Amino acid sequence: MTEMRTLKVALLGCGNVGAQVARILIEDADALAARTGARLQLSGIAVRNVNAPRDVDLPQELFTTDAETLVKDADLVIELMGGIEPARTLILSALSNGACVVTGNKALLAQDGPTLYEEADKAGVQLSYEAAVAGAIPILRPIRDSLSGDRITRVLGIVNGTTNFILDQMDTTGAQFADALAEAQRLGYAEADPTADVQGHDAAAKAAILASLSFHTRFALDDVHCEGITSVSASDIAAAKEAGFVIKLLAIAEKLTDANGKEGVSVRVHPTLLPREHPLAAVRGAFNAVFIEAENAGELMFYGQGAGGTPTASAVLGDLVSAARRLVLGGPGRTETTTGHVPALPIDAATTSYYIGLDVADQPGVLAKIAQLFAEHGVSIEIMRQTIHRDAESNVESAELRIVTHRASEAALAATVEAVKGLDVINSVTSVLRVEGV
Ligand code: NAP
Repeated sequence: MTEMRTLKVALLGCGNVGAQVARILIEDADALAARTGARLQLSGIAVRNVNAPRDVDLPQELFTTDAETLVKDADLVIELMGGIEPARTLILSALSNGACVVTGNKALLAQDGPTLYEEADKAGVQLSYEAAVAGAIPILRPIRDSLSGDRITRVLGIVNGTTNFILDQMDTTGAQFADALAEAQRLGYAEADPTADVQGHDAAAKAAILASLSFHTRFALDDVHCEGITSVSASDIAAAKEAGFVIKLLAIAEKLTDANGKEGVSVRVHPTLLPREHPLAAVRGAFNAVFIEAENAGELMFYGQGAGGTPTASAVLGDLVSAARRLVLGGPGRTETTTGHVPALPIDAATTSYYIGLDVADQPGVLAKIAQLFAEHGVSIEIMRQTIHRDAESNVESAELRIVTHRASEAALAATVEAVKGLDVINSVTSVLRVEGV
């Protein structure tokens, strides 16, 4: 029997994810060798502090602070340091040395992905990043490989566990955003500085990656329209609930034709109302899910843990085995195709249904005035509900009006809302939110 080849694996970073990857590489060495056709030998682990306590007991001699030297001698490099530098320089160096690279670094891919992909193409090696979107969920490989014979028309993703936890908490307990965020922080679902999550930036980085693979075109972070969840109030959630909806922060990439007949892709992240019977509405807590609509496959849903050391390590190991198999068989294989050349459309091109909350005077004829104004702007109303409130102290009555429209363009809706604000019977526009899945 011929001796099995050994492939040297350099690990950069030994934090939440890296430590679990190192553990699995050591504990499951025989199984990984059997699946790969080569022994995957962990040649070293680069960290900042070699003496820092670790979640996993690992051989001390593997640790080094000299990441550059470690990378030079590796067949496969796993980057799990996070951040832009030195991760970027180390990945570029690994690729140009002919090593295949596995990373989970969505921030780097969103900021400078094209430079990395070009270097991988030039060197004829594989750069894979399944862990960068939705943690453990196998989603990039199904889009890139399994659906490569189909045409994806739309992707809707819950790709940020922190915001899903917060919105779910608000939905189940009636909590305000600030209280739900504090609870997420207490339970470790949100970081001390939650900006990247609650402002939608983390989801936007993932939306750019999902859109790029789904539409065979490289979309950058600048192509993604991004709105976070900080302005979603407890009353928005309660009103949505009463009308049969749930509010989710969605990463959306969909093929559209704009008003001038120009075809393109709208890539966006924003809080969205979903009907409670939509499969994504059932995604609770910090879980992630991606819902795909394709011309031939129809609707597909991928669900699972979007973060956590061990679940994310599963995605990293999958990429590693795949890259190692290709090294054993020869040839890097294709990582992605970018022959689509589809333009990114601005948010104005997107049409969705809208939910609008209005605080109105309780007078006869108000509903008719508002309905007429919507009709004049070409926005048709699907549902209109009115609730009367009486202030206990002043005894003054006010009415709350909730409207769900049929699909309308962003521009038509904005013009309608502006016009509505000008009506004398309107006290205030309390919310304007997009609705998907109806
Ligand atoms: P982490 O816990 O912060 O660990 C980072 C590791 O990198 C630490 O071991 C640190 O060394 C090392 N490191 C950082 N800067 C370094 C430098 N300049 N030189 C050498 N080593 C350096 O990070 P993580 O949560 O495991 O995340 C790693 C990557 O996976 C990130 O890109 C993240 O976005 C991505 N990801 C994470 C998750 C998740 O659930 N955590 C999910 C999906 C994707 P020391 O230990 O010595 O400080």
